[in-house]
Amino acid sequence: MTDFIDKLAAQREIGERISVFAESLHAEESPELRILERKALEEGIPIIRPHTRGLIQCLLEMLAPRRILEIGTAVGYSALVMHTYAPVPCEIVTIERDEERAAEAERNFEAFGAKEITLLKGDAAQILPQLEGTFDFIFMDAAKGQYIRFLPEVIRLMRPGAVLLSDNVLKEGEILASKFAVTRRNRTIHKRMREYLKAISDEPRLRTVLLETGDGAALSVRRRGGESGGRP
Ligand code: SAH
Ligand code: MG
Repeated sequence: MTDFIDKLAAQREIGERISVFAESLHAEESPELRILERKALEEGIPIIRPHTRGLIQCLLEMLAPRRILEIGTAVGYSALVMHTYAPVPCEIVTIERDEERAAEAERNFEAFGAKEITLLKGDAAQILPQLEGTFDFIFMDAAKGQYIRFLPEVIRLMRPGAVLLSDNVLKEGEILASKFAVTRRNRTIHKRMREYLKAISDEPRLRTVLLETGDGAALSVRRRGGESGGRP
């Protein structure tokens, strides 16, 4: 038993070292974004971590998306990252329900001259069913307990080959802990996040891989074969 606990502790330490190293590789390149990043962190806003930004930058180059959807704008940092690093002209639709944060995001988009970003204010649960057309890349980064609720609409909005990146899915490993080890307040989020990870993994229209990036990220792609077609 002590062996096992020692092993877990050692593994955690290695994980932390890798994570610190990975973050050190992803210093923000744009001075404007760096200022915004620092301000958001000072205000305690949970923006994407440098390693997650690195992943998004790679995905943008791979996908060259024309249309991006983001659920959870906060003050617009990640939307502006995507706007800055998208390799081809690209429309970004982003959803935020908190009025103050949405107002700050709007000011930031204006300051960056980011006309290609459309901010939709309100609850994603209400807004998603109203969206038309499909997206090439979807970034899910809202309330963790709601991902499972958004999933059917999110899949509807993905074209075949579209990528869904879901952020903060491991909450620093807490999602892996036994449900009894989780505080009562977090138990519902914990349960729903596990359901979500199971749902995106079992979903026949998606291929999903769980990554330890940042706070844990799930990378899913909508299969090109559709629900029944294509190779198994
Ligand atoms: N993507 C941002 C951080 C988002 S933080 C970045 O990395 O820069 C998560 C945000 O999601 C919060 O601002 C919160 O208000 C918003 N949010 C949570 N649940 C939501 C919902 N149901 N609809 C819309 N926005 C939501
Ligand atoms: Mg996040």
